[in-house]
Amino acid sequence: MPRSSPRNVKVSLMSRMPRGFLPLLLAVLVTAPASAQAPADPALQRLTAALLGPTPLLDDLRELVDEIGGRVTGSAQNLRAVEWGMQKFRQMGVSATREAFTMPDLWLERSAAARIEGEGIVFTPTVAAMPWSAGTPRAGMRAALLDAGNGSDADFARLGSAAKGAFVLVATEELKDVDGLFREYSLFAEVERRAAAAQVGGLVYMGSRPRDILYRHNVNIGNANTMPIVALERDGARRAQRLLAAGRRLQLTLTLDIDDGGPFESFNVIGEIRGSEKPEEIVVIGAHLDSWDLGGGALDNGANASMMLDLARQMKALGVAPKRTIRFALWNGEEQEMIGSWGYTKSHAAELDRHVMTNTVDIGCGRITGFFTNGRADLLEPLDRVLAPVAGLGPFTNINAPIVGTDNYDFMMLGVPNLVANQESATYGPNYHARSDELHECDPRDLRLNAAIIGAVTWGFANADVTWKRDGKAAVEQLVKSTDLEAQMKMFNVWHDWETGTRSRLK
Ligand SMILES: [Zn+2]
Repeated sequence: MPRSSPRNVKVSLMSRMPRGFLPLLLAVLVTAPASAQAPADPALQRLTAALLGPTPLLDDLRELVDEIGGRVTGSAQNLRAVEWGMQKFRQMGVSATREAFTMPDLWLERSAAARIEGEGIVFTPTVAAMPWSAGTPRAGMRAALLDAGNGSDADFARLGSAAKGAFVLVATEELKDVDGLFREYSLFAEVERRAAAAQVGGLVYMGSRPRDILYRHNVNIGNANTMPIVALERDGARRAQRLLAAGRRLQLTLTLDIDDGGPFESFNVIGEIRGSEKPEEIVVIGAHLDSWDLGGGALDNGANASMMLDLARQMKALGVAPKRTIRFALWNGEEQEMIGSWGYTKSHAAELDRHVMTNTVDIGCGRITGFFTNGRADLLEPLDRVLAPVAGLGPFTNINAPIVGTDNYDFMMLGVPNLVANQESATYGPNYHARSDELHECDPRDLRLNAAIIGAVTWGFANADVTWKRDGKAAVEQLVKSTDLEAQMKMFNVWHDWETGTRSRLK
């Protein structure tokens, strides 16, 4: 779930095209290499044509989202998704392994309910517990509901000691896009710090999505959190806010049944097509298989997990042989601080030097506008080259800035060359981790075009003549010093583990 780029104001060729234009575009792509300096690669042309054609990509996505549904790491549905991924690789004849790693703790919401009452008023707005929210006693927790404005220092100062033990209602702006999501992440981190300092009984966010759409938004301090924290449907929260402004005294009874436990084993699914000339050198292309559970996890990230499968399937079916080994990763535990991809970097530590590229796709179905190179300026030029054959699907703007919040993180901190696809926000922002993250929010045409782009980048890096080297400690520490990495790492609760050397810190 990375942040957005500076706004790409260029209107792409594709977005001006009528829907039925794909075959013509395809013809242009395969007959006229888009770039003069890139001689046509017949294998890539075949791969691109196959990926743009009627593959099982959308059937896979429908199965994952509609039949398995939301798949939180640690849930039965998540294990079903792992088996599903393994079966898909088996069916296409691509070798795959279920690679175990340890999740530090379990957090699943079994149920959540709220009742607001006082002075003859009673209503029962819907709520969702934020991941790592504490549960409540079985009969619920009842306390005064207070208006904490925007949760600023001034708001908490105004509430003073009244906040202690109370539920505080914090207003939010409506979330419209990925930029808003990052504002929400950084704002909530501050609000949670203030709420904990004020020793509130519980924190109640006004839902930031329109109407009654609920969502989960990881609490900033992760499993160190001890408060109940919920999102309460926007309409109900606004009603409560008006009642409080009118001087009504309200009580909230919150009943959260949370399944929380200690460490458990989870699995990444890693498919592999072995390289024909340099099999010891590895290109990893990955998307996370896990999701939150209020919706089906189509945009985040079923669409791109399904894309990984389709890339492997088409390469295998065409019999095109990459020079380097390509691994197709379906990561797990991403939503709980990218634990699965971290696990991969630990169990494959001995071969990380031979990982020439890792690539992550995690912003739903919006059109790919380019890639983040995460501090590796040396990747910009080769990236332009590997994108040249699909230039007709651009324009692409590649940005050398570091991104935290998805599965490139540990690779980046370990100095392994890594990319994150930058995508148009499209429907991603408002549906992020939400009840509304369902299949119909994904534009299947854009997903296919993205598959062709990712196919070209994967193919390009798997076959390019140059070998990229891992960065060492000095380069990574310099990246931390010279960019906003520290702030991003704090936002995603991974700074402490890096600072103390317990996670992905080069020696
Ligand atoms: Zn995601």
